Amino acid sequence: MRSALSALELSRPRRLDEALELMAMRDRPTPLAGGTDLYVYLNAGTLSATRFMDVTRVAELKRLRVAREAVTIGGGVTFRELREHAAIRRRFPSLAAAAAEVGAWQIQNRATLAGNVANASPAGDSLPVLLAHDAVVQVRSLRGGRDIPFAELYRGYRDLALEPDELITAITLPEPPRGARAFFRKVGTRRAQSISKVVFAGVIALERGRVTHARLAYGSMAPVPARARHAEAALLGRALTTAAAAEARESLARDLVPIDDIRSDREYRMNVAGNLLERFLHPLLKPA
Ligand SMILES: Cc1cc2nc3c(=O)[nH]c(=O)nc-3n(C[C@H](O)[C@H](O)[C@H](O)COP(=O)(O)OP(=O)(O)OC[C@H]3O[C@@H](n4cnc5c(N)ncnc54)[C@H](O)[C@@H]3O)c2cc1C
Repeated sequence: MRSALSALELSRPRRLDEALELMAMRDRPTPLAGGTDLYVYLNAGTLSATRFMDVTRVAELKRLRVAREAVTIGGGVTFRELREHAAIRRRFPSLAAAAAEVGAWQIQNRATLAGNVANASPAGDSLPVLLAHDAVVQVRSLRGGRDIPFAELYRGYRDLALEPDELITAITLPEPPRGARAFFRKVGTRRAQSISKVVFAGVIALERGRVTHARLAYGSMAPVPARARHAEAALLGRALTTAAAAEARESLARDLVPIDDIRSDREYRMNVAGNLLERFLHPLLKPA
């Protein structure tokens, strides 16, 4: 059943410690950032919560810190800020590219990185990028803070390894190995405003022609974003030849068991996953 807006309670903390105090209460509010997912659920009547905490005024969540070894993005940073940020565009172009594909401008102006992560949709566009970049999620509660490797964040479909009183404060992306190439591609029904059928992010580094680092991450293929570890293993330590790329593509069958849903069937998704991997690797191939 839809909730009348007048029946909703909203708190608006300005500091992180105030927000954490509210989260520590027994009848804690639901964090509300851009609201681009939450309003949809409220409108559809699939969300029964009536107490909310608007976190958009909490300055700590809006920080974006750029250091040589890592970039730390406050949970409340929006996709518009990410797509326009010079250091993100230069050092993490696949994150800037994903940010530019989240909905349209209206959504990007409000939607936050932490909201995308906490919403935990298998089709969330930023998630494979964070996985491919070995991101670390920083969470805080009144009890203290901890870091969760992004690869360990999702325990199952929309099931996060977060305690109920914890807020996502920031997400850190370590600097990729020197010379690494990154790739992002979202495949949906339309060019704009579509939910992905397959979303892929890759990071690869080569030293003297051999692959020294490979991360291949897919979204919309399983209940949670998934690394293609067999395909990565098929590349690691080898020269990046047509044969190695073909072997990696074949290995995807061991990594991915795509979902069948209203947006697409399994076979199509598998085919697209392979094509995206080829698109990524092809410009980097050296003759066998
Ligand atoms: C028209 C439309 C198009 C869209 N297109 C896309 C798309 O192309 N790609 C895509 O990935 N998504 C898309 N979305 C979904 C949505 O915009 C994103 O998931 C967005 O990143 C959610 O962020 P938000 O700040 O609006 O989150 P909110 O709606 O405010 O919250 C989402 C969830 O995150 C929790 N949360 C928020 N902040 C925190 C925090 N700091 N710590 C802990 N939990 C927190 C909330 O409690 C809630 O459970 C679309 C939505 C709409 C309405």
